[in-house]
Amino acid sequence: MIEISESLDHMSEDFRFDLKRYNYAEFNIIVDTIENLSHRLRKVIKEVKLERSKMEEILKQMNEGFVLLDKDYRIISINASAIKILGNMQPNDSIIDYLYYPDIINALKNDILIQEVTIKIKHSIYTCYISKVDLGTTLLFVDVTAAKKAEKMRSEFFSNVSHELKTPMTSIRGYSDLLAQGLVKDEERQKEMLLKIQNEVNSMSGLINDILLLSRIESMDVEVDMMPMKMKSLVDEVLESYEVEIIEHDITIHKDFDDMVYIGNHQQIYTLLNNVIGNAIKYNKEHGHVYIDIEEQGQAMKVVVRDTGIGIPLADQARVFERFYRVDKGRSKARGGTGLGLAIVKHTVSLYKGTIRLNSELDKGTTIEMTMPQQTLKQA
Ligand code: ADP
Repeated sequence: MIEISESLDHMSEDFRFDLKRYNYAEFNIIVDTIENLSHRLRKVIKEVKLERSKMEEILKQMNEGFVLLDKDYRIISINASAIKILGNMQPNDSIIDYLYYPDIINALKNDILIQEVTIKIKHSIYTCYISKVDLGTTLLFVDVTAAKKAEKMRSEFFSNVSHELKTPMTSIRGYSDLLAQGLVKDEERQKEMLLKIQNEVNSMSGLINDILLLSRIESMDVEVDMMPMKMKSLVDEVLESYEVEIIEHDITIHKDFDDMVYIGNHQQIYTLLNNVIGNAIKYNKEHGHVYIDIEEQGQAMKVVVRDTGIGIPLADQARVFERFYRVDKGRSKARGGTGLGLAIVKHTVSLYKGTIRLNSELDKGTTIEMTMPQQTLKQA
């Protein structure tokens, strides 16, 4: 009996129970039962340890910050991401002493089961999900900076679109009201107004086309027809559409590059060239020059369009790829611009996994350089 008691004592440390058998049946039954129990206990403990290390690993790998608090708001468990977000805290610390966010503290102290608080920490925005559980409270911090930014961009985009559409709509309404009421008697004046209406309608439809194009490129999942294109003919096609401006402003075009074939979507590549070459012409000076160079560079196509035009101020250079950003709104509108051209270019280049560079000097000119990897034709 003393031996059993000693072994049980020993068992309490590592739950192992080992005892030799004696010649007493009753005694051996007890020893067997305890041994069995010890075996089962050790198995359960092993499983619990495994589960715990799995949980720890999950918490460690999580991008979200996780904190488990007891009922007195003391930390039971905190993962590495939570420490990165909230600063250094240890188990047993009271979170109330460390947190500077009154919204979270208020949420901790009330009885609502699940709450959501959005807070800004340094340069990031987090949604903190606070849930009351049996042990106390859990806090989960999810980084929502990118989603909030996208949401802001979307709402800015819509407000820009409605602003851009409202202006021509107002003037169309004004002129058409005057004409409909018969208030303009002079035929010349009537013609002038109709011409203005026509111009506004053209600029509106240009804007709508650009918006549709941009959203189609952005949604990326659209299957587009790819085909081999001769770049020289494509450039000629673009230049043809600017014939009037080229003659009007006496612009000289230089395009002495060797022809090359690029596989892409005709409309996308045409629009890309049309926007970049169009800008080089639109924002040029009288008697200016535009240099177009297209060449094969390894497995990629490099397109360089340089002009001797008005240039872009340094402060605006990073922003001209944003939607609706224009350095000189008056000039852009007068030349049929929508402010979406370079945004379309940037998105198209990234759709083709290429890169774009802008170099510009005020009053001297601008160079746009794009490198786009050669694409392959998908087999049907
Ligand atoms: P837009 O339709 O107004 O031309 P873009 O997105 O194509 O819009 O260009 C944005 C702005 O960048 C233009 O309004 C213009 O101010 C400036 N910009 C673009 N290309 C040039 C260039 N080659 N030379 C000078 N300014 C340019």
